[in-house]
This record gives sequence, C-alpha cells and structure tokens, in this order.
Amino acid sequence: MIKEKTMITFKEMIQETSDIYSFVFEVPETFHWLPGQHGVFRFTQDLEMTGKSFRIFSFASVEEEHKMLFSTRIAEPISDFKKHLLQLKAGDTMTIDGAVGKFLLNDLSKPTCIMAGGIGITPVRAFMKQVEYSKENPCSLEILYSDDRGEFAYEHDLNTINNNFSGVHLQYISDRNIFTEKIESYAKDHQNESLYYIAGTPGMNKFLTEKLISLGIESQHIITDIFTGYGD
Ligand SMILES: Cc1cc2nc3c(=O)[nH]c(=O)nc-3n(C[C@H](O)[C@H](O)[C@H](O)COP(=O)(O)OP(=O)(O)OC[C@H]3O[C@@H](n4cnc5c(N)ncnc54)[C@H](O)[C@@H]3O)c2cc1C
Repeated sequence: MIKEKTMITFKEMIQETSDIYSFVFEVPETFHWLPGQHGVFRFTQDLEMTGKSFRIFSFASVEEEHKMLFSTRIAEPISDFKKHLLQLKAGDTMTIDGAVGKFLLNDLSKPTCIMAGGIGITPVRAFMKQVEYSKENPCSLEILYSDDRGEFAYEHDLNTINNNFSGVHLQYISDRNIFTEKIESYAKDHQNESLYYIAGTPGMNKFLTEKLISLGIESQHIITDIFTGYGD
C-alpha cells in the first residue's frame, strides 16, 4: 500500500551516547504509527548527497508523547545523509512515508523476551512507552539490551518504566557471551510458552534466530526487526 508523505518539523537533537543521537520532531495529529513500526525519512531541501537520499528509521516514541522521535548511530565514516541530520535546525522540515512494519507487541498477557542489540533498542523504547501509557502490567516482559561498549541509550526513561511495572524486567548487558547465555537460559526455561523479539543488525538477527531454533523454539514464536544498512 502506498502511503502519502507527511511533513514533520524538527525540534531538537539529543545526544544519547557517544554516537547515538535522537532527533525529535513535531508531527501532524493526522499522522499515526504503532510502537515497533518504522518510516522512510527524507529531507525537503535540495541537499547535495552521495548515496541514497532516504533512510529507514524506527519510531522510538509513541503517539501519546506528542512528539516523534527517531534515534540513529552516527559514526565514521559518516554518510552524507547523517551529516545533514546533524545540521538540522529547529523549524527545518523532513518527510516521512509510513508508518509500516509488523514488529508489534500485540499481547502483553504472553511471556515475552525482547533482545535488542545496540541501536536495535529504538523500537523497544517505543514498546516500553506502550506499556507505560497502556498502564497494563505485562505478564512477563524480559528485555535484554546488549551493547558491546556498555553505552546505553534512553537509560532514564527505560529505568523509570522498569521500576514502575513489576512485569517488566530490563537488563543491560555489555558482553556478547553473557547476552547469548542469558538468551539460552531464558529459552530453555520458557521454550514455546514465550514469544521472542529480536531487534538489531542482520548478523545479530540471524545468529539469535538460529540459536533459538536450535533450542527448539518454533519460528512462529520468533519476531524480528532487521536493521539492514548496518552490515553484519
Ligand atoms: C526496518 C528498519 C528499521 C531501522 N531502524 C533504524 C533505527 O531506528 N535507527 C538507525 O540508526 N537505523 C535504523 N535502520 C537502518 C538505517 O535505515 C540505515 O541503514 C543505517 O542507519 C545506516 O545508515 P548510514 O547512513 O549510516 O549508512 P549507509 O550510507 O546507508 O551505509 C550502509 C553501510 O555501508 C557502510 N558504509 C557507508 N559508507 C562507507 C564507507 N565510505 N566506507 C566503509 N563503509 C561504508 C556503513 O557503515 C553501513 O554499514 C533501520 C533499517 C530497517 C530496515
């Protein structure tokens, strides 16, 4: 289905970690999205750019926050698109196509394990905000957030939600082996009684999907959000 472009207005940039930046926009009330979905972002000015003139980003905020937020990793070599993001000034506009995507948290009454690697935390922030605004204590929402350098985005927001909902259990992990061990241990304990959400690079998604399947998890219980564009 082709969706119309929506014009959004830049408000501010927030540096979350040494190389993750959030971009906050005002959006028209007619624009709707679900936590876990993504959109295609473009500049409205005619900017000089080598490579693609658009990028796909997940919505890291929920509609109830009355702002649209995406976050992205900006590290050398910085693409022209991201150089232009860093130069946005309040009042500048971009467009979004979307929202699209089936990475949705539909049933908080089922045990669920969410695995986020690095920038893959963006849709997970939206999921946690979904819990906060719905005020529905999840039956059991295990969130494993891994970052090799131990730099975690949105810590204040995530900790607040984690502390306010007994059904949410968030762990920050800065060692890949421990991340994998925790996933293995969770899968052995919960088997196909749980849903498994994976958000991260193609390499991480492939590795964890194969790992879960080798542990007996059926593929219909595994839901992935693959951030193509980050290589492996
Ligand atoms: C469903 C979905 C959701 C996504 N959500 C997010 C999100 O929330 N946040 C986010 O940050 N990204 C997200 N992405 C990925 C995003 O769309 C971009 O692909 C990603 O941010 C990389 O963009 P870039 O401009 O840095 O790299 P690109 O210019 O697109 O380059 C792609 C790859 O080539 C490499 N590369 C580029 N130039 C060079 C060079 N000169 N030398 C060596 N290597 C080079 C880059 O390191 C990168 O690995 C999502 C993707 C999908 C499909």
